[in-house]
Amino acid sequence: MTKIELNKYRNVLEAKHAEIMRLVRNRDGIAIERSSDALDEVQQATERELAIRNLDRDSNLLRKVGAALRRIADGDFGVCLHCEENISPKRLAAVPWAGFCIRCQEIADQTHGHSADDLVASWVNAA
Ligand SMILES: [Zn+2]
Repeated sequence: MTKIELNKYRNVLEAKHAEIMRLVRNRDGIAIERSSDALDEVQQATERELAIRNLDRDSNLLRKVGAALRRIADGDFGVCLHCEENISPKRLAAVPWAGFCIRCQEIADQTHGHSADDLVASWVNAA
């Protein structure tokens, strides 16, 4: 991958990182609001649950974006974490923080109850 391409991905990833940070911060403000109304409380509990789920998803993504930025710094960006093949440019354009080539991602997706990150852990542990 050329330096220009790497810079492009770094810009995209840094923008994404900032965007998620903003989202997470804004949501924190909403989540701590309290109401004495019982009906509101039920609704707020639901919203809190949703917020926590979103937060989960966002922090997951944040971790992936951060890891991708580290891979750019380390010089192994765009290489599959599992099989060490190059990740296709098309896939990186769609998912710049992708850590796996499409083949390994499909295997990860098919494995029930495991995120791709868990799979990496089990692969690393097995090695
Ligand atoms: Zn792979």
